[in-house]
Amino acid sequence: MEPVEICSKHCKSKCCKSTPPALTNNDFNRINKLQKNENWFNSISQEENKTRVIAKREESNNCYFLSEEGLCDIYCSRPLDCKLFPLFFKINKINENEYNLRWLVWYCPLTDAKSLDVLKEEAKAIIEIILSEDPEQLFEYQNAMYASQGYKKKHFLDEERLKIKRSGE
Ligand code: SF4
Ligand code: SF4
Repeated sequence: MEPVEICSKHCKSKCCKSTPPALTNNDFNRINKLQKNENWFNSISQEENKTRVIAKREESNNCYFLSEEGLCDIYCSRPLDCKLFPLFFKINKINENEYNLRWLVWYCPLTDAKSLDVLKEEAKAIIEIILSEDPEQLFEYQNAMYASQGYKKKHFLDEERLKIKRSGE
C-alpha cells in the first residue's frame, strides 16, 4: 500500500485529527498568503513572536485543512510539523556550525510501512536544507511544539549531530 493510502484509507488521517500542527513563522506566512480569512490559525501565546498552531474545525477535532475525503487541502504548503510527522525533533546549538538533534517518534501505521530509517532520512533531508538556509526556523518549530504540547506522548528515538553545509564545502 502506498503511504498516501495508508494515511487516508487505512489510518483515516488520524494525526490530522489530534494535536494541532505547530507553525514556524515561515509556515505561517506561506499558508496565510493562501487564505482569505483568519479562522485557519490560533495564537497560543501573546509574546512578541506569537506561537501559532493550525485551528481545528468548529464542528469536530479535525484540522482546519482536512478535507471531507480525508486529504490535506494545503498539502504542498503544509507546515514543517506535518512534513516530518510521525517524526519530531528537539534541537540545541553546539557552535556556529553544529547542532544537536534529538529525534522523537509517534508510532503509527506509517512507521511500520516505511520503516523508521527511511522516515528519518527523509526528515533529515528536510532539516538539513532549513539548517543551511535559516536555522532559526528550527527553533521556532521547537518553541511552537513546546507551547502547543506537541512533544507530549512522543517517544525518544536517538540523537545525532548535524553540521551546516555551506556551498563549496
Ligand atoms: S502519518 Fe501515521 S498517524 Fe498520520 S495518517 Fe499517516 S499513518 Fe496515520
Ligand atoms: S495541515 Fe494538512 S497534513 Fe497537516 S494536520 Fe492539517 S490536514 Fe493534516
